Amino acid sequence: MAAKRDYYEILGVAKSATQDELKKAYRKLAIKYHPDKNQGDSSAEEKFKEAAQAYEVLSNPDKRSAYDRFGHDGVRGAGGGGQGGMNMDDIFSQFGDIFGDGNPFESFFGGGGRGGRGGRAAAGSNIRIKLKLSLEDICKGVEKKVKYTKKKAAPGAKFGTCSTCNGSGMVSRVSNTFLGPMQTSSTCPSCNGLGRKLENRPAGSDAQGLINEEVTTSIKIPAGVQNGMQLSMRGHGNESPMGGPDGDLIVLIEEIEHPQLKRENNNLLYDLFISFPTAALGGEVEIPTIDGKVKVKIDAGTQGGKMLRLRNKGVPELNGYGRGDQLVQINIYTPKKLTSEEKELIKKLESSENFIPSESHKEKGFFDRMKDFFAG
Ligand SMILES: [Zn+2]
Repeated sequence: MAAKRDYYEILGVAKSATQDELKKAYRKLAIKYHPDKNQGDSSAEEKFKEAAQAYEVLSNPDKRSAYDRFGHDGVRGAGGGGQGGMNMDDIFSQFGDIFGDGNPFESFFGGGGRGGRGGRAAAGSNIRIKLKLSLEDICKGVEKKVKYTKKKAAPGAKFGTCSTCNGSGMVSRVSNTFLGPMQTSSTCPSCNGLGRKLENRPAGSDAQGLINEEVTTSIKIPAGVQNGMQLSMRGHGNESPMGGPDGDLIVLIEEIEHPQLKRENNNLLYDLFISFPTAALGGEVEIPTIDGKVKVKIDAGTQGGKMLRLRNKGVPELNGYGRGDQLVQINIYTPKKLTSEEKELIKKLESSENFIPSESHKEKGFFDRMKDFFAG
């Protein structure tokens, strides 16, 4: 038998370590060598036990002072006694709280695995659904009724303590090794670590006593949501078989593309085509916005590529403050088919001086227009 390592050395702390330092050091090791994280690694399990034993002695002022004076002889019998050391169940029941509220293993392993050790009952699982929304709904905010299937406890489902593990969720096994008998613990095969077993399984329910039920719920969608966003409805997910809180309903937003308005963040883009006479003479055109049709004035001599900004006609900010704009890009429609009379007319205009583009007509090129646009 190898000499026992010094307890301070095991925890990596000074002889003068405070309770708090001891606890921190132990917590770190316990997480590192936790059997859930090192499955099948017996050296990790040994280190886990070694750290637990060291902490058990040093965290108790009487045992610590005896250890300080007499070494391992001073605390013979501590930590579960003999050379076999502590078994896992002892460690968990004595030091389970070392992980505190932030027990990292609860989230990794669903929480149910250590149910019998006073851990919180596992929450029900989450349900994910997709919700398609029109741009109009997104801009105004909307309340939608959704239908989905959720797991609920079947009427008459009754749970009792698992008789195989007596509710601990773990079973111990003694095996003979060259060091003598060793006790190891593993998840109870009868209840999969839940510690509870269905005593009365109603027809149609699953092994956890749950049945599928179609439910309808109303979801309030705030104005301004975006494609791909997820809204979480706490407690609208599956019920927990363990009496824990219900899971969440997670709603994935899918934005239905608008036939005319293209969304870019909170701005809406609209491609407007005006006729050549309207561009030359000016006029009024009607364009769609998310709030309905509006009339827009076109100045005489409008060039293709000009952008108009309709302030506050875009998508509302999700935080409720302000709204994007609608940007209108003006295009001049060039006819593709012409009658012979139309051709005659245009021919006449072609050589007319005012119809000839010249450098002076280019006073506002594309880049200047962009600059103007973003400035104002
Ligand atoms: Zn069991």
